[in-house]
Amino acid sequence: MKEYEILNVHAVEIIDSIGNPTLDVTIKLKDGITGSASVPSGVSIGQYEAMELRDGDKRHNGYGVEQAVTNVNTRIADKIIGMNALEQVKIDNLLIKADGTDNKKKYGSNAILGVSLACARACANALSIPLYRYIGGINTKLLPLPMINLLNGGKNVRNTIDIKEFMIAPVGADSFSHAMEMACEIFSAMNRVLIFRKLSTGLGDDGGFIPDLSSASEVLDVMMEAVEAAGYRPEIDIKFAIDVAASKLYDENNDMYYFPGESYMSGKEIYRNAEEMVQYYEDLVNRYPLYSIEDGLGENDIKGWKLLTYRLGDKIQLVGDDLFATNEKRIIYGVSNKMANSVLIKPNQIGTLTETLNAVEIAKCAGYKTIISHRAGDTEDSFIADLAVAVSSGQIKTGAPCRGDRVAKYNRLLKIEEEIGKDSKFFLP
Ligand code: PEP
Ligand code: MG
Repeated sequence: MKEYEILNVHAVEIIDSIGNPTLDVTIKLKDGITGSASVPSGVSIGQYEAMELRDGDKRHNGYGVEQAVTNVNTRIADKIIGMNALEQVKIDNLLIKADGTDNKKKYGSNAILGVSLACARACANALSIPLYRYIGGINTKLLPLPMINLLNGGKNVRNTIDIKEFMIAPVGADSFSHAMEMACEIFSAMNRVLIFRKLSTGLGDDGGFIPDLSSASEVLDVMMEAVEAAGYRPEIDIKFAIDVAASKLYDENNDMYYFPGESYMSGKEIYRNAEEMVQYYEDLVNRYPLYSIEDGLGENDIKGWKLLTYRLGDKIQLVGDDLFATNEKRIIYGVSNKMANSVLIKPNQIGTLTETLNAVEIAKCAGYKTIISHRAGDTEDSFIADLAVAVSSGQIKTGAPCRGDRVAKYNRLLKIEEEIGKDSKFFLP
């Protein structure tokens, strides 16, 4: 196994899709083969996520990652040089232990994740097999249903849409490439619909449009229009999904969820308590082909999540993102308390590949669905595309079919589909 021995570990500070610094890590093995990975970063970061190390000095408004880069190139390199790169679990556990904190704040989850992902890629390269096959094994063949972003809103976007993401899932497609074809046609129909309505066609971080619309209903109406304009049937060909990112709407002063955009557009303050939120979603589910709601309630709203799951859990997909933070322990807690029925999987929420795989495993064992996800601040690295196939996640959420950082993942999946050929599968699990 000498050829898989780690010879060198090297990180560089690069820039992500929203202009913030991040890390790119390269691992070199004894036989000279290398593997690299870039680290994504969230904008709507949950309270229970592992912690990125940011410099906090003058450079990049405090967002620099020079300390994290140094950690990779010195402390982490010292520990893993000479180890067998094939021993991913051993390496990841060593990094977790050496960091020693419960949220990876000493080395930085960004430093640790970069090393963890680069290690897997170096092995796949050294073995001359695709990354999805290295991680997933010989039977990996399921292409994920893409949840494609059409419109963006939420706290970090300066428009009047309060819900963070509105997505389409081409459930009527018979292959991944067919799903992409449908989604791209609808994306371009949406552009035309917005121009016709004299609304902005500017784009958000995830690549979706960010017009000013008055309410979730109006957004979903516009989406119905775009789907039909592209020649598709809502519900049969296309279903809708939303990511509310409700932790960011939650107002702890009155234990309610505040909708600033809807308030502005209607001229009256719109607050909803947890019960009203559930009622609001039930209403949307009855009126639109909405099959998935992510973070419909805040990450600490245990009572609300139980109610939401009780009322809608056997009708639609209820996805925990901030709620679970790709954390095995939080998923177990959620499962045993009947909260949500699906888990969003973001490797950088937890910080190593091993823990990410553990989160997927535990979710699946509990009968929860899994969706592999990008971050708002992402790069051209398509690691999550391979990961989605490797773990047969069934679904992937990686933005609009627009912006290089988003299409990198879709394009990688198109190539994987071609590579697996007629043995590939595509269905909503
Ligand atoms: C998300 O909330 O699903 C998401 C992708 O968040 P972020 O903007 O933090 O990356
Ligand atoms: Mg989310």
